Amino acid sequence: MEILARTVQATRCYGPVIALDGVSLDVPAGQLLGLLGPNGAGKTTLLQLLPGLRRPTSGTVELFGGYPRDAARRRRLGCTPQETGLPPTLRVHEVVEFVAGHFADPVPTPELLEQFGLTGLERRQSGGLSGGQKRRLTVAVAFVGRPDLVLLDEPTTGLDVEARHALWDAVRRYHQGGGTVVLTSHYLEEVEALAERVVVIDQGRVRADGTLADVRSLVPARRVRLRAPDLPELAGVERSNRDGDRHELWTADSDALVRQLVTMGIPFRDLEVATASLEEAFLALTAPGTQTVALIDGELAR
Ligand code: ATP
Repeated sequence: MEILARTVQATRCYGPVIALDGVSLDVPAGQLLGLLGPNGAGKTTLLQLLPGLRRPTSGTVELFGGYPRDAARRRRLGCTPQETGLPPTLRVHEVVEFVAGHFADPVPTPELLEQFGLTGLERRQSGGLSGGQKRRLTVAVAFVGRPDLVLLDEPTTGLDVEARHALWDAVRRYHQGGGTVVLTSHYLEEVEALAERVVVIDQGRVRADGTLADVRSLVPARRVRLRAPDLPELAGVERSNRDGDRHELWTADSDALVRQLVTMGIPFRDLEVATASLEEAFLALTAPGTQTVALIDGELAR
């Protein structure tokens, strides 16, 4: 399978700050990859290295098998950075046509605007768009050249729920048509809704790399909530929280835990059993003091 973007031991420093620390990552054709990480983790820096907007301090970066700044390679790429500026006096259709002019077979403007919920705004000056409309336009233009790979840095930040879902649909359609996407997000539900592969980055390093299920499996599989007075020592509980008579217990085997509660005659009520969420996995992976956990192709390496 073709690797569309690759970093090998890529490190990027800004003065004394190590923003990325030896990151090796392959992005194969057809994948929808979500990059997750807390503020300052290095996600934007990684997304800037892939198209050659920044150079690594050490290590290598390849785009479509070669030097990222090569114009022919860049023509296969669509990007939406975290912060973008639109010329305020250009009309929406002019912005799209300006970008489309760089490509041999662009998506027709009405089709693109329809996909991103911007129909009817063609003649509006971009300075007169709402924040959410501007964001949708800057994401839309990443797709105008029918790219093979799209890099989106927090594409839905500032969008309301409806607009966010419309944008997810557009990204999904592109992906179903064979497109490859790398996106960063602060919204775990976004990564959960879209990504097939999740890479968790923290302090410049890859902490986990796998499917959603793989990343979830890094925390105990079940969360059990209940109300009860003091609980005795219970076998199989890996972590617990208590707030008054509310208890939260994390365990790999919730059935065994519930059997213990019953056998011991513990007067519990309001029992809830849930599958560990991506959010719990993410918090466990990025908690201060957590050692590096790398999950590569489903294999756990500590
Ligand atoms: P966020 O989610 O907040 O956007 P991020 O994961 O995208 O964060 P980066 O923007 O890549 O993180 O930043 C990684 C680290 O590098 C941070 O400590 C940041 O302060 C630092 N950094 C980023 N760009 C620069 C720069 N141009 N000059 C100096 N330091 C920088």
